[in-house]
Amino acid sequence: MKSLKHVYLVRPRGFCAGVVRAIEIVEAALSIYPPPIYVRKEIVHNRHVVEELRKKGAVFVDTLDNVPEGAITIFSAHGVSPEVKESAEELRLRVIDATCPLVTKVHLEALRFSRQGYSIVLIGHKGHDEIEGTMGEAPLATQLVTNVLDIDQLDVPDPQKVVYLTQTTLSVDDVSGIVEALRRKFPNLTSPPKDDICYATQNRQSAVKELAKHARVIFVVGAENSSNSQRLKEVARDCGAASYLINDYTEIEASWLAGIEAVGITAGASAPEELVRQVVDYCSQSGDAAVIELEAIEENVVFALPAELSYHRELSTHCAPPTAPPTQCTGALDAPTLLPLQQQ
Ligand code: SF4
Repeated sequence: MKSLKHVYLVRPRGFCAGVVRAIEIVEAALSIYPPPIYVRKEIVHNRHVVEELRKKGAVFVDTLDNVPEGAITIFSAHGVSPEVKESAEELRLRVIDATCPLVTKVHLEALRFSRQGYSIVLIGHKGHDEIEGTMGEAPLATQLVTNVLDIDQLDVPDPQKVVYLTQTTLSVDDVSGIVEALRRKFPNLTSPPKDDICYATQNRQSAVKELAKHARVIFVVGAENSSNSQRLKEVARDCGAASYLINDYTEIEASWLAGIEAVGITAGASAPEELVRQVVDYCSQSGDAAVIELEAIEENVVFALPAELSYHRELSTHCAPPTAPPTQCTGALDAPTLLPLQQQ
């Protein structure tokens, strides 16, 4: 690895606004409400993130069957179907919804188009949490397509009333090929009002294309079950780079860097920066290489916390720190009478 001269680190990479918000929701809930706090599914697809939150007290469950009646329960960033919300109601759970607002947007589109009598072609990956949630909004009107071959199987009552929607974390290039093929079958195909592939996915894919101009080996820090990380690996590969999806630096094999002068590093939207830094350190120290930061696109999107949590967070910043003598909060906030949790 001594031949390694340059480590290119591209921005934007790693956490997106939806992931930051979801993690903050769990942390805020843990600090405000008494335990246990349940989280349905991985809050985001990254086991390091999940483990850190588990250590802080979050209890992760795969289904609501494992949650006791009335418990505080957080829905993950990937969203849930109406069926899951109904189960939560039956169990009288106190729900905090960490669904990314950009996933919610696709849910609302599915609802609206199905009510207008459209057949929905949902482009995405079977079994992904987000797809299960979105399909659940209009199960009878929605058919899933993962690639162009699936299009042959589509059967719709009215070919003039077909709309396509997509998972938020797909490859922009793959989707445009599938949409082209869909248009050949349904010339009047309706598009979503605004791109369903989210800004973070698009920006990280554009950034990795830039990265591939500088490095022929690219590490994508992210999890196997992270859709946007998998797509980053594929986009890098399609640009001609040897690309590897790694959870952390311990998975790097020395042979991947043998004889290589430059390596590129990026990260999926659910991968913590700390893991990226460890990969950078591993590469730069092993080869004594210079680290060069590339900024492909400026990104400054922030999503607000749900009202019930941001109120308490604001309140705590307006109050004296815990080491000071007990004191009244002097913040200018109007206090709600209860600690209202969103019932969904
Ligand atoms: S990847 Fe996109 S849709 Fe998913 S949480 Fe991040 S911003 Fe939201």
